Formats: sequence, structure tokens, C-alpha cells
Amino acid sequence: MNSREKKFKIDSESVSFDLKKRKTINHNIGKYTKAVEIGKNYFSDLEKAKDTAGAIKDYVINNLDQLLTKFEKNAKENNMDVLWAKNADEVIKQVLAIAKRHDTKLVVKTKSMVSEEIELNDALEQNKIRSLETDLGEFIVQTAGEKPFHILTPAMHKSKEDVAELFHEKFGTKEDAGPEELAHYVRNFLREQFVSADMGITGANFLLADTGSIALTENEGNGLLTMSWPKTMVVIAGFEKIIPSVSDLDLFWPLVSVMGTGQNMTAYNSIISGPKADDDTDGPEHVYVILFDGGRSTLFDEEEHNLALKCIRCGACLNYCPIYLNVGGYTYDTVYTGPIGSVISMYLDDSKDTGHLNFASSLCGKCTEVCPVKIPLHKLLLLNRKKLVEEGSAGFVEKAGMKYYQKYMLKRSKLERIGAGWKNFGMKSFGKKAWGPRRAPLEFPNESFAKRWMKKDKGK
Ligand code: SF4
Repeated sequence: MNSREKKFKIDSESVSFDLKKRKTINHNIGKYTKAVEIGKNYFSDLEKAKDTAGAIKDYVINNLDQLLTKFEKNAKENNMDVLWAKNADEVIKQVLAIAKRHDTKLVVKTKSMVSEEIELNDALEQNKIRSLETDLGEFIVQTAGEKPFHILTPAMHKSKEDVAELFHEKFGTKEDAGPEELAHYVRNFLREQFVSADMGITGANFLLADTGSIALTENEGNGLLTMSWPKTMVVIAGFEKIIPSVSDLDLFWPLVSVMGTGQNMTAYNSIISGPKADDDTDGPEHVYVILFDGGRSTLFDEEEHNLALKCIRCGACLNYCPIYLNVGGYTYDTVYTGPIGSVISMYLDDSKDTGHLNFASSLCGKCTEVCPVKIPLHKLLLLNRKKLVEEGSAGFVEKAGMKYYQKYMLKRSKLERIGAGWKNFGMKSFGKKAWGPRRAPLEFPNESFAKRWMKKDKGK
């Protein structure tokens, strides 16, 4: 067992039994799932929409190279600089070089999980460039010195009282300030930063191959300000964000919105197709797009597993996952959490040694059911488990145990041959640790359920 797996076991036990933490997580996620259930009615045929979106994303996986080449060509024609980065070091070097070229002291950022993968804020700060998160949730976790808890709602683990206390401590706002007052404070504070920032850094919800554009969707308008105020704009995106056409947005924007937050459309939807033109009143003078790998090619090379690259990061599979609801985001100790995080993390550069997360699932299939692009998440968890076992993750005892388990479970007559005494002895001697201290002790009865049922039938 590696150190990350050990930590996961300790942390998951600790969070699951911390009722205060669980109450906050369940309350906050509950608000989203309730809204999503209502929001699904915006679609007259949600299943058809999911099928279509899934099929478009299948097409993307099968034609990734052509679509990326097309995007690069069109983006360059739009006067954007397109750069490719194999790993985090390459992205950081590219961003620092751009920052130097444009004499950058202050960066404003929108929420971007890729920037978490490469730990961009730390790298910028180390190079004396101030980097400020502008999404409210990201701003809260940055102020608290924490990482995002959830891919869509970074401060989901915090109650409004937690935020009021944090802001009181850091900014001197009122101790009992309400959400509106705190949002107002952040809005005023950030407006000044947007105006003085030299560079805006964003992620991309979608890269549009046919127009060579970037599509961003958000609720606070911070993305719009990040891309329109600073003179230099840098977009860092995982290459799987590509979709064939701008016209596909009429499906993907509402889908990501309904399944993420229950809104029919998020409040701000922007398409950037290059730097400011001569007759434009605002916009950046330079736009750079960095297409990031970071382990995605490794995942792409794995047939079937690569279906995980279809993800549009709506966050629904996290919100509906019974494991995520109980252990929360930080326990995963990875940038991407919940079912999709468990499936992709072991392939990504920043999350090696996280194969154990594939076993942290009840395989109930709810993640697969809710996914708007029809990723068979519970099957991918199983495929990853198979791969890990084939690569030697299971020890001799586990393998032998599973072999005998299979042999006896497949034939009732064989299973019946082992008496209750032996089964109880086996559980007490070898299965006690796996059964855990919190469950009531397992006691096999002398007669199996099947035998008792047969007797009951005969007695009729
Ligand atoms: S795997 Fe599906 S449900 Fe989960 S975040 Fe991605 S698109 Fe959403």
C-alpha cells in the first residue's frame, strides 16, 4: 500500500465520521442536486441530448489529431499564438516567458482546473508575479490558503459562517456579514484588480475547431472581465476540450449548465476569437493558447479507458456519488475528485499512485446515469481495477483468496460444503480487518438462507 492510499484510508474514515463536515457538504451538494433535478426539465428529451453530446465527443476522441490541427490553423489565422506543452514545466516556462515579454506584475485568473494541475499560482508567486483568483469560490479558497474542494464549486465545503469568519480575519469585514455583503466586498475589491492587471489567465470550457475560438461559460462575469481588461490573455486548456464546431455549443452550453448547476444557461457565455481588432473598444492585444497534455496522451492511448476524455467537467458525477458525499473532495488528494477523478487521476502527471481511488466506489452506477456525455464511469472504474491487478497491484494472498472466493461462489453445492463454523473461523481470523471495527460482527448461521427457503417451500 503506497503512502497516498494509506492517507486516503485514514482521511476517508475521519471525514465520514465528522458529522459537522458531512452536514456542510451534504447541505451544499443537496442544493445543487435539487436544482439539477428541476433544471433537467428544460430539456424536452434529455436522454436524446445526452446521446447526441456523447456521440459528438466519441467523434472527437476518434478524430482528435485532425480537430486539434484544424483548431491550431484557425486560431493562428485569428492572430492567436498557439503553443503546445507536454507537461507542467513546459506550461510554466511558456507562461513565465509571456509574462516577461509583456512586463507582467499582476495576473487575474478565472477558475481553471488545469492551472491547479500545474500549480500555476505557486509558480507565478515564486517569480514575483501576483496571481489573483477572481471566481468567488476560488477567491475564498485562495484567501484561506486551500485548494479547490470541488471541480465546479471550489468552496463547497465552507458554510456562510466559515466565509464570514475568514473574511473578517483577513479583510476586517463584519464578523456576522451575510453572503450579499461579502460578495459586494469581493466585487469592489476585484474591480480595482481587473483594471490594473497586466495579464488575464483563463481555462477553456470548449475549444472550437471550425472557428479557432475559445468558449467560456461562467456565472459571475469575472471571466468576461479577465479576458477583456488586461492587455495580454493566456488560455491554458487540456487538449480534450476540443469540439468540432461553434454550432455544437447550442447543445453543450445548456448541458453543462443544467447538469452542473440546474440553470438553463449560465449567466455569461463568451467566445474569444482573437485579440482586439482596430475598431474594437476593448479586449486583449495579445492572445496565447497553450494546449496542455499533462498525461492525457497516456490516457488517450488506453482503448476504452480513453472515453474518460469526453468529460465536460460539469461536476454532476461528484454531486450524485455516495462516496464523494461521505468523504468529500480533499480526501481524494487529487485535483480531479469524485468518480471522474478516480478514473483519470492515475494517468495524469500530477496524480501518480492514485490507482487505489478506483476501488473507492460502491459501483452503484449513479455517476454513469447522470453523466451528460454518457461516459460509462462505473465500467471505467472496473477496467482500471482490472488493469491495476494485471500490473501486479494485488498481492499473492488477495489473488489466491479471490480465486477461491470465485470457485466457491460460482457453485452453491461447493459453498454449502463449508459449514458455518469454518466460515466464522475464517472471518474472525482473516476477514476481521477487512470487515472493519464499526460493523456489527458477522455471524454465519448453521443453515444457509437457500436451505431455509427450500424447507419453507416444502412445508407449504
Ligand atoms: S464525467 Fe460526466 S458527469 Fe462527471 S464531470 Fe465529467 S461530464 Fe460531468
